[in-house]
Amino acid sequence: MIQKPRGTMDILPEEIPYWQYIEKTAKETAARYGFSEIRIPTFEATELFLRGVGDTTDVVQKEMYTFTDREDRSYTLRPEGTAGIARAVLENGKLSDALPLRLYYLINCFRYEKPQAGRSREFFQFGVEMFGAGSAAADASVISLADAIIKKIGLKDVNLSINSIGCPECRPKYHAALVEYFKANEDKLCPTCRERLKTNPLRILDCKNPECIELAADAPKTIDNLCEECETHFNQLKLSLESMGIAYTVNPRIVRGLDYYTRTVFEFICDTIGAQSTVCGGGRYDGLINQLGGPKTPGIGFAMGITRLILAMKACGVDIGEPEKPLLYIAPMGGEASVAALGITEKLRLSGVYADCDVCGRSLKAQMKYADKIGAKYTLIIGSSELESGRAQLKKMSDSTQTEVSIYDIDALRLVLGA
Ligand code: ATP
Ligand code: MG
Repeated sequence: MIQKPRGTMDILPEEIPYWQYIEKTAKETAARYGFSEIRIPTFEATELFLRGVGDTTDVVQKEMYTFTDREDRSYTLRPEGTAGIARAVLENGKLSDALPLRLYYLINCFRYEKPQAGRSREFFQFGVEMFGAGSAAADASVISLADAIIKKIGLKDVNLSINSIGCPECRPKYHAALVEYFKANEDKLCPTCRERLKTNPLRILDCKNPECIELAADAPKTIDNLCEECETHFNQLKLSLESMGIAYTVNPRIVRGLDYYTRTVFEFICDTIGAQSTVCGGGRYDGLINQLGGPKTPGIGFAMGITRLILAMKACGVDIGEPEKPLLYIAPMGGEASVAALGITEKLRLSGVYADCDVCGRSLKAQMKYADKIGAKYTLIIGSSELESGRAQLKKMSDSTQTEVSIYDIDALRLVLGA
């Protein structure tokens, strides 16, 4: 039998309530914060990610699903949302709308990674982007939206870590200090980090290799090497978060995986879901729009991994209630009754009632077993005498009590059903 590609998932009906709960909570909360939804293509010109995400990142170097189409053009399945949204914003002239422009998205992303708990090759993100506001207040308000969504979902044990990775002004000096530090310990670095030392030393701080983590612990910190403006920005951010009542820890190890970040970076980490513990990551990307050919425009955003949010929901026992069960199951006996049952069911459904009836031609016994299995609250058996009299016995499944009802008067039937 053909199986799904490695690292992809089938999301079965019994899991869907978790997805819908998160999607609904995130969308409704984002709307309260003034964000509107945007939908973008699943694949983009490869060049967009090379320029946008940054070609020294793992995402671009090792993880992209790139293909050429029938006309030999290179496309890539989106590994993240920000670059595509920045492209769409520019292409559609959205920067001339009222700024800040606030957008949210719900997308699938593709990265060629080693599949494990909380990490797959096709995965799903809810994210937001805010364009045109460069202040620390904008950072705080985007972070407060992530915080509100996480709290509304009902997650506990999720902590916010923030950091500043500086700007093109202060980064060269910091890079030099970092390179000097790691050069002295080059033999202890993993092969990838030895490469990063040449291309993008900041990425060493994000390496998951235990020896690199140990070495990184004493590395120079970005926050000790910020220019005056970046330092003021970071202090303002801390004050803003405090004013909003949002708890945080400054974690100098947070640098984020993509090259477009400047100044503020942050992660929400859930310690109860194992190694892939970052449920939300984000940051400021003041250079991105300009890099993609647009005017200098500040931006900030975040993305949440939905599977990781679900793992966290399950780990802390969030109750999302039971899925809705049918109010009525109609069990016909015989061909004529089957046709009538379909008609009654249809009328009930159109009037908003969750009703069901036999479509398998099952025996009455099998039908009652089925009604029990699907958890129908009421059942109605219809045979030739019921069709003739227009009346039948409505059975309440929980206590087997019966009430006589009219089967042709839908309003009366609904009244008895309490619908
Ligand atoms: P990680 O450090 O876990 O690799 P990242 O820095 O690559 O994450 P981002 O690109 O910032 O992640 O994506 C934002 C969020 O999307 C992550 O915090 C995580 O919740 C989720 N995510 C990223 N990659 C995957 C994946 N392969 N499978 C499932 N979720 C993912
Ligand atoms: Mg990653």
